[in-house]
Amino acid sequence: MKTAPDTAVLSDGGRDRHGRTISYVRISLTDVCNLRCVYCMPEKMTFRKKQELLTDEEVLRLIRLFGGIGFRKVRFTGGEPTLRSSLVEIIRATRETAGIESVGLTTNGILLDNLARPLGEAGLDSVNISIDTLDRDRFREITRWGNLDDVFAGIRAATKEGLRIKLNCVVSRGWNDEQDVLALAALTIDNPWQVRFIELMPFGNNAGFQVGRTVTESELVEKITARFGPLEIQNEGRLDGEARVYRIPGAAGSLGFISPVSRPFCSACNRVRITADGILRLCLLRDEEADFRRRIREGEDDDSLRDALTRAIYRKPWGHDLKSDAFPNKRGMSEIGG
Ligand code: SAM
Ligand code: SF4
Repeated sequence: MKTAPDTAVLSDGGRDRHGRTISYVRISLTDVCNLRCVYCMPEKMTFRKKQELLTDEEVLRLIRLFGGIGFRKVRFTGGEPTLRSSLVEIIRATRETAGIESVGLTTNGILLDNLARPLGEAGLDSVNISIDTLDRDRFREITRWGNLDDVFAGIRAATKEGLRIKLNCVVSRGWNDEQDVLALAALTIDNPWQVRFIELMPFGNNAGFQVGRTVTESELVEKITARFGPLEIQNEGRLDGEARVYRIPGAAGSLGFISPVSRPFCSACNRVRITADGILRLCLLRDEEADFRRRIREGEDDDSLRDALTRAIYRKPWGHDLKSDAFPNKRGMSEIGG
């Protein structure tokens, strides 16, 4: 016999056992990438076989189930989600899914120039574009294979399409924590974008690079303040999603700081993740997972899948334990999607 309480708790917008409303799912559409960012994956990377990845139908079925249990926001990520040939169709179908109010994409922007228009027409609301420096040579060093001009062509195309734009910069000590950070912050003076500085997080697959390279929010705020003057805190210090937001006085855009290492925001966490191979990941930085590809491929019906989803989400862990050096080891960031 099914026990009702967990489902009942979640059907009104999704509450976990810690009282948090969980209404946002990030879905990785592939683990493959056309770049090899030094902090994210090694240059020689092995990817999953195509048959291990969720099909379009499987992805959309899960999204319908999420919409039905109170999820309102979907963000597609990867690997590099623009490498999925059916991305536009997936976004269109997601936009039409009952309950889903917001559809976003996180991308390295390399292929966005040609995709921004079809994505906008399909109903994409917002795009987060990763850009760790404005220096062409440094960009090539960090991404190993990337051309900064392609990213800017993507940003221009997304702007033309009217998509909401945020720029993501992962800061790595010794790579982009000096002039690069200041140049990115300066972009917000004339552009209405949010430039977000993300603290480098440790993952088992690339720990050799990551150890000792995290630059904290307070170090960055100090550096940016020294150049541009005191930053104005926005939203009275309340988080916007996972970011604390500031503004350079008079700037058109804003600065976001995502600081899972130095200022964890677990109490405000409202999300879960689906990896490209169909695993529900309950916390980015913990290895607790539930295999939904297996359930789907074993023929479970929607009621049973919904029940399993709500139960798993209800058990979402409180948060990470980086302070005790409990690092996620099962998967790297490119497999989970960030
Ligand atoms: N390829 C897309 C991109 O780069 O935007 C989407 C996937 S990527 C894994 C998502 C985000 O995770 C990017 O903003 C990337 O910079 C960030 N990221 C990757 N490895 C990270 C790490 N170890 N710590 C913090 N952020 C990381
Ligand atoms: Fe690819 Fe994104 Fe990872 Fe860079 S951060 S290697 S673009 S998945």
